[in-house]
Amino acid sequence: MNDQTMNSIKACAQNISFQPRVLVVDDEARIQEACKRLLTDEGCDVEIAENGIKGLKMIEEKHFDIVLLDLMMPGMSGLDVLTDLKARHPDTVVIVITGYATLEHSVETMKKGAFDFLSKPFSPQELRVVICKAIEFIRTLQDIATEKSRMRVMINSLSDGVLTTDNQKRIALANPAFLKMIGCRKTSVIGHTVSEFITEPRLLDMIERAIHQPEDTFAEITDEMIVPISKGKDEMIIGIRSIPFRDRLNRNLGSVTVFHDITALKKIDQMKSDFVSMVAHEIKSPLNSVLMQLNVVLDGLAGELTEKQKEILSRISDRITSLTTLSTELLDLSKIESGLINQDREDLNVCELIRDQVISYRETADAKSIRLVLKETATGARMMGNRVNIEEVVSNLISNAIRYSPNGGRIEVRADTKSDCVVIQVSDTGFGIPAADQEHIFDRFFRVKNEKTRYINGTGLGLAIVKSIVEAHHGTIEVDSTEGKGSCFKVIFPKSEYRF
Ligand code: ADP
Repeated sequence: MNDQTMNSIKACAQNISFQPRVLVVDDEARIQEACKRLLTDEGCDVEIAENGIKGLKMIEEKHFDIVLLDLMMPGMSGLDVLTDLKARHPDTVVIVITGYATLEHSVETMKKGAFDFLSKPFSPQELRVVICKAIEFIRTLQDIATEKSRMRVMINSLSDGVLTTDNQKRIALANPAFLKMIGCRKTSVIGHTVSEFITEPRLLDMIERAIHQPEDTFAEITDEMIVPISKGKDEMIIGIRSIPFRDRLNRNLGSVTVFHDITALKKIDQMKSDFVSMVAHEIKSPLNSVLMQLNVVLDGLAGELTEKQKEILSRISDRITSLTTLSTELLDLSKIESGLINQDREDLNVCELIRDQVISYRETADAKSIRLVLKETATGARMMGNRVNIEEVVSNLISNAIRYSPNGGRIEVRADTKSDCVVIQVSDTGFGIPAADQEHIFDRFFRVKNEKTRYINGTGLGLAIVKSIVEAHHGTIEVDSTEGKGSCFKVIFPKSEYRF
């Protein structure tokens, strides 16, 4: 690279995504013209202000990346301009130009935030060099800001919890998923020590060990912990990994801890084995014996069959075969789980979404003379979510409300917005849920068994699916029900989740 290329502003500016905007604040026409000509030729967008007051006014009106500022001007001094400018526009790079380049001047301007110093008279090459340096500096700042914002969006949208601390165990970063896992409603935890929010000694010890890991080792500290979500509710099983992060000299700067909710995996594991034995004993073997006996009859071993009888029995045999296939497929519960949560999220208009669901259930409700009412309270309710999944949540709740209501009841569906959340509510005047069963209704395969529900078909999977979806959206679901009076299901989604 020759000198010319090295100091060409055009070449420097190629690496940044904008045309550098330069303001020359100087009362000397000669300097104004020289700077304007040279910098314009080099591809900058240059403007001139002949005094400090005018310069500040122009800076208020539009952003300048670089300001070339004369210190000695009539009226407002360059130093005062610099102080004012840096207080209001700390991102603007200021290069001081003056004919009185003394050491004190340099020190004072640097203290006030000047980026560099050019003493008059200066050559075109000196100006080029200092502008190139400024552009390089702006580009670095831009890269850091872009990287920071990319990281923040990435970490905040993770469904895994992430906690970063410095080496004094002060929180440097805590994403929404982590705060939810520890049941922390505060959003400003940065700067506080971890022990203010985490009481579990094992976890504190993991972070401690990560921070104090010897320089020559880099081990991931892992553990599994059970976190009670809240009194009386299911506990959460979390897989935790803690590692140190270091600077270039390998000094420990702090720790990064990742929290992965493995409750579902653990439960699926348990359920899979439960289900395998249940299917094997309760469904598969009787089905197989029915099939065997059917085949005996079909083969004519129990007497001659007419063509019509053969046809009917073959159809029965096909149905039973498909039932055995179905039970085999059901064994793979993890398949259901993985297809359940779709990760594509979009900005949803919650009111429109629930309105569409209410419309699609109107006929079913009418058939039972149930008044299905949409309460439009918050027309602007929006949230980030997966459309199909959120529709499934609302659809399941409305369908349950209709199925578990006697003829002639009333169902109300509404969406409300609070400062930080969107609440979807489905209430009915139906059978209600016995108090003792309420804590189980979100369990897979759980169904309330009583006279009222006896003839209503179902799998007991609907609310479990609803709960998984709600939790995958960092929300919560609550039920308030009185037997004989009705139920109210309330789903609360954080409004700003994934919006930055
Ligand atoms: P299913 O669709 O098989 O009924 P769900 O998981 O949707 O399964 O519901 C679990 C149980 O919760 C149901 O069997 C029912 O007894 C009860 N339930 C759900 N919603 C309501 C409701 N709105 N009113 C009364 N009981 C309900």
